[in-house]
Amino acid sequence: MALPLNDVKMNSRSLHDLTFDQMTALLVSEGLASLHAKTLWSTLHFRSLADPLSREDLSPPLRRWLVSNLSSGTWTLDVPPLNLDVPSGDGLTRKSLLKLTDNQEIETVIMSYDGRHTACISTQAGCAMGCVFCATGQMGFVRHLRPGEIVAQVHHARRVLVEQGKRLRNLVFMGMGEPLHNYDAVMTALDIITHTSGINIGPSKVSISTVGVVPGILRLAEEGRPYNLAVSLHAATDEERSAIVPANQRWPLPDLLAACRSYNAQTGRRIFFAWTLIHGVNDTPEHAQRVAELLRGLDAHVNLIPLNRTEGYEGVESAEEAANEFHRLLQEAGYPCTIRQRRGIDVAAGCGQLKAEKQRRRQAA
Ligand code: SAH
Ligand code: SF4
Repeated sequence: MALPLNDVKMNSRSLHDLTFDQMTALLVSEGLASLHAKTLWSTLHFRSLADPLSREDLSPPLRRWLVSNLSSGTWTLDVPPLNLDVPSGDGLTRKSLLKLTDNQEIETVIMSYDGRHTACISTQAGCAMGCVFCATGQMGFVRHLRPGEIVAQVHHARRVLVEQGKRLRNLVFMGMGEPLHNYDAVMTALDIITHTSGINIGPSKVSISTVGVVPGILRLAEEGRPYNLAVSLHAATDEERSAIVPANQRWPLPDLLAACRSYNAQTGRRIFFAWTLIHGVNDTPEHAQRVAELLRGLDAHVNLIPLNRTEGYEGVESAEEAANEFHRLLQEAGYPCTIRQRRGIDVAAGCGQLKAEKQRRRQAA
């Protein structure tokens, strides 16, 4: 749930952190009419203006309030500058490294296929979950992102696409970090992003991917949040999963699957399970049979993603035949299943890989 205005005032000074109701409460508490909140909201979120003062038709009271509060630093904006911007050779992926005020860098990726444009959003600087094959996990945890820092990535993607006459319609929370470890900020950001007089992305166009943070999955279901849920599974026994996904020790498979069942039952929504295919580690026909057994009774779709190699992990992607056989076995067992193409590998589009790559280049220089 969004924090009350007093808590927001104490914890943040960014206007981009505020939900519509909070922005209205703020301006009204400062003696402005609520109509000004509507104008400020549409300036920041519908028009995606990086500088609200550049809007010429702002009413004098709102302009005065903005000039005074922005120049004194009482309130700020989240407009992180671009540190690196890399389009992929096929032109279908564009990866940006955005620099936050404390110099942390986060990745936002824009992916375009079949005329649909999707932004892949980061929720933390680094990640505490430590999945061995993941470049972000290999960096460790730095800090949570605030709602405004999450929303700012969406505005960045919108501005890039608008220049090309295109519109952002889909969001996946599959960038750096574990969204359900930063639950409140992610949900506040989504309240802002899905607001119909602002960015207005449909809740059904939003997917949240989790390593399996059980309390977060249960909370999503209880709160009736209408977003799509993806669970990164990667292994079907506790022993195998704990070896590559250390968070499994905290939330082992029986607990995770129980949470998924209750999510299915409470929300009536299908869960998308992600399985990163690693040669010899989780890609044999026995593994496929085990995952089919594990998911029995669930409303599940399985996405198979060949591993993107990372510096800190010796594993390699599955051979194409192994991936195809895995796919066939899961389909035969009755699960809808897709092999996802690894897009934009030439821009290191795997989670956290561009930042890791940049750090390596810096060290080598
Ligand atoms: N923390 C969340 C969301 C970010 S990671 C989660 O783990 O689900 C998004 C997806 O990228 C996850 O399914 C994750 O397992 C996968 N991933 C991470 N590193 C990868 C790599 N090197 N190759 C392929 N998939 C990877
Ligand atoms: Fe974190 Fe997801 Fe990477 Fe695991 S895969 S370390 S949970 S970002």
